[in-house]
Amino acid sequence: MLRRSLLALLALVALLGFSPWVPRAQERPSSTPVASGAAASGTVQSAPTSTPTPSPDPTTAPPSPTPTTSPSYTVLFDARIVPTEKVAYVTIDLRDPDERMGKLEFRIDPERHLDFAGDGNVEVNGETVVWTPLRQGGKLRYRFRINHLRNERSYDSRVSDSWAIFRGDDLVPRTRVHAAPGAHGDSRLRLRVPVGWSVVAPYERLADGTYAVVDEDRRFDRPSGWIGMGDLGVLRETIAGTRVAIAAPKGQDFRRQDLLALLRWTLPTLRETLPSLPDRLVIVGAGDPMWRGGLSGPRSLFAHADRASISEDGTSPIVHELVHTALRLPSGPGGDWVVEGLAELYSLRVLRRSGTISKRRYDRSIERLEKKARGVKNLRGDDVDAAETARAALVLLELDKQLDASTDGRVRLDDVVRELVATHEDVTTERFREVAERVSQTNLEEFFARPELAAPKPSPRS
Ligand SMILES: [Zn+2]
Repeated sequence: MLRRSLLALLALVALLGFSPWVPRAQERPSSTPVASGAAASGTVQSAPTSTPTPSPDPTTAPPSPTPTTSPSYTVLFDARIVPTEKVAYVTIDLRDPDERMGKLEFRIDPERHLDFAGDGNVEVNGETVVWTPLRQGGKLRYRFRINHLRNERSYDSRVSDSWAIFRGDDLVPRTRVHAAPGAHGDSRLRLRVPVGWSVVAPYERLADGTYAVVDEDRRFDRPSGWIGMGDLGVLRETIAGTRVAIAAPKGQDFRRQDLLALLRWTLPTLRETLPSLPDRLVIVGAGDPMWRGGLSGPRSLFAHADRASISEDGTSPIVHELVHTALRLPSGPGGDWVVEGLAELYSLRVLRRSGTISKRRYDRSIERLEKKARGVKNLRGDDVDAAETARAALVLLELDKQLDASTDGRVRLDDVVRELVATHEDVTTERFREVAERVSQTNLEEFFARPELAAPKPSPRS
């Protein structure tokens, strides 16, 4: 049996946590379909908090969703939601019988992740927590403060007496694991919620009430995406191969049926255009004091109840976020214009291609983008605004026309986008150009020489 010291020597530092979208070193086969009983239930109830649930024993735990190779270790993220305290009590239960795991490093938000304690050694240092578990695993406990303000008075994470909406990515902070080469784990999430609450989460629910947590973008699977729970109204349907759940606290004016109709019109086209559309999609909504916007996450998005399915200007904030969810493109330095421009352009294209809006309205929306984009000089900032997003969409539209012309219609922007998604690396202007040139076999130097895409001059201070 390997000793931990030897292991440390051999260990590959798996850099899988701090950069949010590092590709997995090892892809696993896709999970098996959910048993229909678990999937069909309209409301999902975890074990009531009053009934203590025994920790799962690895020998009696249900079979892994990836039966081809048995996992080296198992991780159970157990979160008990306590609305009166506005917190979740989280336990990370690591079972590592073959001693393949070294230490785990968490990049925390010290305001939200509190009171770390556990088996083995736990070191808390500002924004970093280093946990060295016992040889065969152990438990790490902490408290997660659910409420989080996005600006002065609106929340992007919140718990009330009767519901909670937050991101799995926040519940369990970014993690970097030190593991033996080839080690891979099986991750589960257990959500303990007050009696009578239901849960929607973008994961497969297993027979024992836990969720199989699979993250295609990291080797260490931790929860990500939007989770809604409470006294919810939930609509579930499978559209274009995607299991959709649309949920909002009861009594809030979140138009689930309108949204469902929009998805029925647009998801088949979105799947055709972007085959990377996930096979599971959770939409959670709520009104004030939640943030008045849309926010996408892996296999999920949040939308404020006030957001129209389609705005007066013919764009759809919901489809914009859906495109983000389908593309899963992380932006690198100076590449945000590509990510936001694609979301904006493809949200319009999907509305047009699906026949949701007419050609005339589509053309008008493009004209509106032109108006909105006036005055934008450069697109290479790190966080593009609405006007820059409009300009970015127009630049991409022009690129599409140029590709069409220079390849006699052989290569279009669609092809470039699919390749960009397949390579799944941080998007920068240079990277985007490289993929576009490779796919189209053309030189795009002139196109990318336009002033909007020029590298920003260093500021006088730097
Ligand atoms: Zn966006």
